[in-house]
Amino acid sequence: MSLINWEALCQPIACGGLGLRRVHDFNVAFILKIGFSLLTDFDALWVRLLREKYRVTTSCPESITRVSCTSLWRALSSYWSELCAGIAWSIGNGSIIRPLDDVWVPSLGPDSFFPEPSLSDLLDSEGNWDRGKLAEYFTIDALPHILSIKSPDPTDIDDFIIWRWNPKHVFKTKSAYFRLASSSWDFTNPCWADIWKTRVPQRLRLFLWIAFRDRLMTNLERCRRSVGHHPYCTTCDTHDESTLHILRDCKFAREVWLYFLPGVYSPIFFTESLQAWLLSNIHCHALASEYSIPWSTIFISILWQLWKARNEHVFNSIPQSPIDVWHKGIFWARCYMESFLPPLIRPPDSRSLQWLGPEPVKLIKADNAYMSPISLVRAIATLRRKAWGTEITWIPRTSNLPADMLAKSVDPKKAGAFEDLAVEVHRGLEPRCMIGSFSDAGIGREVKTASLCEFLELILEHHLP
Ligand SMILES: [Zn+2]
Repeated sequence: MSLINWEALCQPIACGGLGLRRVHDFNVAFILKIGFSLLTDFDALWVRLLREKYRVTTSCPESITRVSCTSLWRALSSYWSELCAGIAWSIGNGSIIRPLDDVWVPSLGPDSFFPEPSLSDLLDSEGNWDRGKLAEYFTIDALPHILSIKSPDPTDIDDFIIWRWNPKHVFKTKSAYFRLASSSWDFTNPCWADIWKTRVPQRLRLFLWIAFRDRLMTNLERCRRSVGHHPYCTTCDTHDESTLHILRDCKFAREVWLYFLPGVYSPIFFTESLQAWLLSNIHCHALASEYSIPWSTIFISILWQLWKARNEHVFNSIPQSPIDVWHKGIFWARCYMESFLPPLIRPPDSRSLQWLGPEPVKLIKADNAYMSPISLVRAIATLRRKAWGTEITWIPRTSNLPADMLAKSVDPKKAGAFEDLAVEVHRGLEPRCMIGSFSDAGIGREVKTASLCEFLELILEHHLP
């Protein structure tokens, strides 16, 4: 059961989709690429072989259908018309192009009402385009397009084929795909792209996109899909739980919004339709005065927290208070906005770094790590330069083995060597046991301020057969 159908997902971002590619159309685009090479790449051995085998003698035949052929050739012949629609001719010496049947002005299609002249028939005595002769065969609108391109030159190379649907007239699979798929694209709502420009983390943009499509799995939506028992809101139990209800109209949501609204109050905040409400607020980039954060960022963070609070209540029976949602929303918004701030210059951390030589730790430890050409090192160093107290310790892989074994033994009772130690190990994993004194009869000695690995190593050393 999908929230949004595949056709909608395959729409471009600007049309409300996620820009995924339809495999069928992309496969056709690749077939067109092979076909285009067949018409242009005469130096390739496989092209010469195929043209010879199937007796393709003209530069661009109208059809290549053969009764007996390979599956590749059959596929090529199936989409030959699409290929022909995408090609145009570039004028060389003018000897091959048929002016009324071929596309030689990329912005114009062929016109075959009149007897076929050659390109040279359309030139004056000096070899330039003859307006009068062109006017006999082409419409007034077409003349500027023709006059803007080079006239044939007898000393030039032969005319050659180019690809119409690319600005550089070079075949690109992407341009062929766009040409094939664009007929189903819907550009009627110009606001879709705005969702992906909002200044919030990507997961919140995705959530906003689903909400904008009114596809959140609310009780009303679940009933519509015949997977829910009732459509009512589990918080107030008086209204249907629609997207707009859970995000704005429920008494719980209203209480959260009213924490903010005195500063940004709009009289239509509680009356707009879902899409109009979302759009008007994500377009509001004014700073919420108390927090110096754009209202659009706070707004989306609160939407996200309202939805999470609803799910915590429904699935985990953990009630949330409006003030919790309010705090979490502000926290998300603030953390995201701070990620754009330049790193703070702090005095060296009083807590020394412990590192035992591996190059990555040296890179992170370096003073200029925040300027490192390695993006990951740069990101870690930038975080450390903010108000984060960090301690980086390198643990050799051999020392990490006990922790790795423990992690892989999800069920302590199936852990073999850990069978008798399950309770002990779980107790040891608690932070308060890691620091201070841990006494164990089997070990027979005290482990002070043991790290997880050291602690586990000691246990294993004395208990493993
Ligand atoms: Zn409600």
